Amino acid sequence: MIRGFASFTGTVALVAALGTGFVSSASAEPSFPADEFVAGNLVYVLMHELGHAQISERALPVLGGRDEDAADVYAITTMLAMGTTMSDWVLEQSAIGWFLLAKREERTRATLTFYDEHGLDKQRAYQIVCLMVGSDPKKFKQLADESKLPDSRRESCGPDYRNASYSWQELLKPHRRSPDRPKTRIDVVYGEAKGKLKVHADSARAMRLLETLADWAADEYVWKAPLTIEMRACGETGANWSPFTRKIVLCYELAEELAEVYRKYGKGMPIATRKSAPLSMAAFVPISSSALAK
Ligand SMILES: [Zn+2]
Repeated sequence: MIRGFASFTGTVALVAALGTGFVSSASAEPSFPADEFVAGNLVYVLMHELGHAQISERALPVLGGRDEDAADVYAITTMLAMGTTMSDWVLEQSAIGWFLLAKREERTRATLTFYDEHGLDKQRAYQIVCLMVGSDPKKFKQLADESKLPDSRRESCGPDYRNASYSWQELLKPHRRSPDRPKTRIDVVYGEAKGKLKVHADSARAMRLLETLADWAADEYVWKAPLTIEMRACGETGANWSPFTRKIVLCYELAEELAEVYRKYGKGMPIATRKSAPLSMAAFVPISSSALAK
């Protein structure tokens, strides 16, 4: 079991309590607010970028050849190994995120780029659902039902999950930090944000989004040299890891894009609009000082 995001648990509760979170639209009447959806998806994106960092830092073999798939599988299996209410919730929000992006693609009649280095949005959504249900068919049955994942596929998701989880665990075993080893420095930077991006910068800061990930990654793994995790205005949407600057960059524009996708396409979607989410806010534990002091 990987040590979980104890403080992420409180992060979302915190942002909800502050009420100053990511933009949510009253007109869309979502059953859970856009800010929580955005926060969950940003955590997933950061874990995906950390997956790229793991691969390039440690020169890990990527069987199958696609870095993007490997980074997704890292994010998914790492959070499934945490097994907390929060990590499960992040994965669910991310699956919803990919489904909504696919919906946008369909509505705008975008041409599907089958040659892209990433899987198609819907495939990335189903990859999350499949590995979740593969790890625990009972726990994630509702999600699989609502995503209309066929029974035949659910059965093969078990071996998929075991392969994926085993592969990542084996590869990262030598790089896990034992308590007696010093922690690698991981800096966090929140760049300036203007206009409609400002609310996303403020929310991320209030949530300690980057600090939480940095603390966890420094606690969990030994790194070759210090890293940086930065949020900034990029002029376009996206996120990336650069092995040259040793930096993960998450663009504020991506938070805005997610909020917009949720507002436009979230309504009427079975998963995104269900009244009783299986992982309710009540299940979240507030931040404890011990979790932060770690
Ligand atoms: Zn990527």
